[in-house]
Amino acid sequence: MSATATAQSNVTSERVFNFSAGPAVLPVSVLEQLRDEMMCYPGAGASIMELSHRGKVFVEIMEQAQSSLRSLLNVPDTHEVLFLQGGSALQFSMIPCNLLRGSNKTAEYLVTGSWGKKAIAEGRKEGDVTATFDGSTTNYDRVPKAGDYQTSSDAAYLYYCSNETIQGVQFQSEPEAPAGVPLICDASSDFLSRPLDISKYGLIYACAQKNAGPAGVTAVIMRKDLIDKGDAGLPGYLNYQNHYEADSMWNTPPTFAIYVLGKITRWLLDDIGGLEAMKALNEEKSSMVYDVIDANPNFYKGHAQVDCRSKMNVTFNLPSDELLSKFIKEAGEHKLASLAGHRSVGGIRASLYNAMPREGAQALAQFMSDFAAKNG
Ligand SMILES: *Cc1c(COP(=O)(O)O)cnc(C)c1O
Repeated sequence: MSATATAQSNVTSERVFNFSAGPAVLPVSVLEQLRDEMMCYPGAGASIMELSHRGKVFVEIMEQAQSSLRSLLNVPDTHEVLFLQGGSALQFSMIPCNLLRGSNKTAEYLVTGSWGKKAIAEGRKEGDVTATFDGSTTNYDRVPKAGDYQTSSDAAYLYYCSNETIQGVQFQSEPEAPAGVPLICDASSDFLSRPLDISKYGLIYACAQKNAGPAGVTAVIMRKDLIDKGDAGLPGYLNYQNHYEADSMWNTPPTFAIYVLGKITRWLLDDIGGLEAMKALNEEKSSMVYDVIDANPNFYKGHAQVDCRSKMNVTFNLPSDELLSKFIKEAGEHKLASLAGHRSVGGIRASLYNAMPREGAQALAQFMSDFAAKNG
């Protein structure tokens, strides 16, 4: 082995099981491709980061990323795929800027956690909004059932977050919007974790850095008839129409992030075998961890109600702050990293995104089981 190859394998062996909520774990095979293509993208004579977004090489990368996203999710022709910047936080504003401002309607939000709360606060700046469901009364431990809320058939849109990353509560299927009311979804932290029926959505979006790539790009899939609703007076970047007309190149797109997102979609199609297979693996991984919580009910306290549990972010607490610190410290010694819960909720949060291998979930479950036996 050359000195460089040895250095590389040493670095790889230092990798931990990374339970970070985002930016988060990426598939090793994708990271290896990025490494191999870093100095020179095959045939391009330069790194992908050094190429014009208008050149043939990048335009092909962009088209490949869009078409593999379309095929993974079976996106119908009625919907457009856009790649934007500004993260999911900018969508909190762009959605009401385009679909609420000046409409004389009310936008309805199902608020099931921290991200929904942030989204409705931004919506309020653009027009009338109402929290059709507000989970704060039970500390965001559940999502509503169909009978728990009533949506007006005249709403500007019905907005929800499919997976609340911080609380670890997830919709198991999409809420029903009345005919004519666009359903809007923040799918940032469970995008591409399972198949979806895109035809049900007016707009669904996800920043890439949880489950679909690095920070820097946000995928927006929207129904074409909603694209031109923005007022001409909006700042240009905020108007979906500009991005649509310019094929997501209204300004310089985040070329590197789109390139990596394209690799992730190929990995899902070729290595995983599509979203049904991904869903099965995600269910298997999250069950391993929830099973340990359920087997030790006096030691581990899950945050989410059982039928609302997230397959992506498993949130739970321990009997005391001392045990919590001890858990995090000892987990680190077992190469189980980034398990501390969000500062607003505390406890433990284990994010088990697509790229977390089965072995990572297994190692965490084993550690949890042993830790409860020793300290319970
Ligand atoms: C991370 C996250 C966001 C915020 O994404 P940014 O790209 O930081 O703006 C919004 N919604 C959900 C569900 C998230 O997980």
